[in-house]
Amino acid sequence: MTINEAPATVSGVPALPSHGRLRPLGLHEVTLRPGFWQRRQDVNRSATLAHIEHWLDRAGWLGNFSSAPHERRGREFSDSEIYKLLEAMAWELGRTGDPGLEQRYRAIVRRVAAAQEPDGYLNTNFGRHGQQPRYSDLEWGHELYCYGHLIQAAVARARTFGTDELVEVAIRAADHVCDVFGPDGIASICGHPEIEPALVELYRVTGEARYLEQAKLFIDRRGHGRLPEIEFDRSYFQDDVPIRTADVLRGHAVRATYLSAGAVDVAIETGDGELLNAVTRQWRNTVARRTYLTGGMGSRHQDEAFGDDFVLPPDRAYSETCAGVGSIMLSWRLLLAHGDPRYADLIERTLFNVIATAPSGDGTRFFYTNTLHRRVLGSEPAADELAPRSDSTMRAPWFGVSCCPTNLARTFASLAAYLATSDDDGVQLHQYAAASLRIGLPQGTVALEIDTEYPADGRIAIRIVEAPDTPWTLTLRVPHWATGATLDGLAVPPGQARLRRRFAAGDTVVLDLAIRPRVTAADPRVDAVRGCVAVERGPVVYCAESVDLPPTVALDTLRVDPAVPLTDGDGGVVVSCRIVTPTDQEWPYAAPAPESSMKSLRVTLRPYHDWAERGPSTMRVWLPRS
Ligand SMILES: [Zn+2]
Repeated sequence: MTINEAPATVSGVPALPSHGRLRPLGLHEVTLRPGFWQRRQDVNRSATLAHIEHWLDRAGWLGNFSSAPHERRGREFSDSEIYKLLEAMAWELGRTGDPGLEQRYRAIVRRVAAAQEPDGYLNTNFGRHGQQPRYSDLEWGHELYCYGHLIQAAVARARTFGTDELVEVAIRAADHVCDVFGPDGIASICGHPEIEPALVELYRVTGEARYLEQAKLFIDRRGHGRLPEIEFDRSYFQDDVPIRTADVLRGHAVRATYLSAGAVDVAIETGDGELLNAVTRQWRNTVARRTYLTGGMGSRHQDEAFGDDFVLPPDRAYSETCAGVGSIMLSWRLLLAHGDPRYADLIERTLFNVIATAPSGDGTRFFYTNTLHRRVLGSEPAADELAPRSDSTMRAPWFGVSCCPTNLARTFASLAAYLATSDDDGVQLHQYAAASLRIGLPQGTVALEIDTEYPADGRIAIRIVEAPDTPWTLTLRVPHWATGATLDGLAVPPGQARLRRRFAAGDTVVLDLAIRPRVTAADPRVDAVRGCVAVERGPVVYCAESVDLPPTVALDTLRVDPAVPLTDGDGGVVVSCRIVTPTDQEWPYAAPAPESSMKSLRVTLRPYHDWAERGPSTMRVWLPRS
């Protein structure tokens, strides 16, 4: 089969549902301009992509596609990192068309294509001489998971370029999956979801209904104990409860969010309201009870999993970077389906506090886990070694399991697509960044220039560059934290502000989100931070770091004095603290007694996403109240 190469297919859109409340925009419709996110996207393009390519080569994971079976290196899922790099490159090429990058992309695709078997099978870890047979380890083998990322990369290429060798490889692999796992085939699922959203996206690109039917089969099969019992329980791979009846996300956080994203995709394309409602309910309960202040998901190290309701300890926060990516994938799909700004609120929180936190400023070191409290100084990982994933205490150049850097790369490369949407009536702005937009509406073209220093400053000026000669609606998200926001000087409550009129070129609309530091407390059921407060400023979570304290003051002796107002200053938010003296040094338990506090201290908190950028430090987001 061939794919439709009409310009409409080359849409540059990461997820393209055939219907829903809102329509996504492509990378040719939204361009980031200098600011918080463009800086990170530039670093991703200029440094991270080459860094990843270097490590994939050096670790031997790229070489696996051309080496002998017994020489294979890396974990069973390492093929997927090559595919995620290809996806990142495809988005980047769609925007910039960099000829050097195009050459590198094509060279990797050639190596991948050469490893595909005649029947479409493609995996360097199984099925060859001396290796385990194909599909002999569905719970841990990640074969379908790897196809998922292969297909996602091909979808990115199809939507930014058209058909190429990678797209053909992915279609052969997808046909193979349908042959082997179809209604008459192996009646099972992959331990790690990802094939589900990928197959629906390939259906959206090609119109081949078989891919959608296969994705639906995988969704319907899960939750019925098709995979064996394992030490973590079947909830680890969401094979414990059918998706339609589950109430909350559980188990491995990346698996749970990817699976839910795929379930939304299937629900939208098959008109399955029950399935969509089920995932919507799970999202709501997960956000209400199982999500960190940062938007991070997953509190358990043992199985990289969600904890029980309200089990959100800051000092063992797992909050894997990839779970942040998965959460955005899910929230974005629900936003497109329902149009509710709460989904964009969570995307914003996750972008500024997980996605922006994970990479170093130079884009060559990464956090795998994103803890909210570090009690002991971390150690700088060696520049030339694979770091252990969750045990790495500082950002590391590469990991033995290195899913997070490539996931960040594909997210940064496609980031502009998450800023805004359209519908028949107008344009909706969900995320605020300096950007240019040019969108075709039924009424005509709308072109906008957004000027802002967000999130440092809450003023967002939207200038109309071009507009149709008929009324249309500009909808602006007012974040849930933005009390005191104004639109053209008039107060607007959190939610959405709508302006419907005939706009003229040169008109400017100013949304001011009145950003100032604020104190946040947790639901009292989050026992781990009872009696603590956090400081936020706009969408950004702040933290205290030992490098900002006098050498004689230990971070864990600080108590925030909530009576003293927070102020902006010193490149952060200044809080007033008291220093308490730890009691008995030999036994940490005693009858309750007031803490004896000594002197007061003004402490500058800094954005959490910048922490550990000034060498090893201790850090905490949640600070005890005095
Ligand atoms: Zn990861």
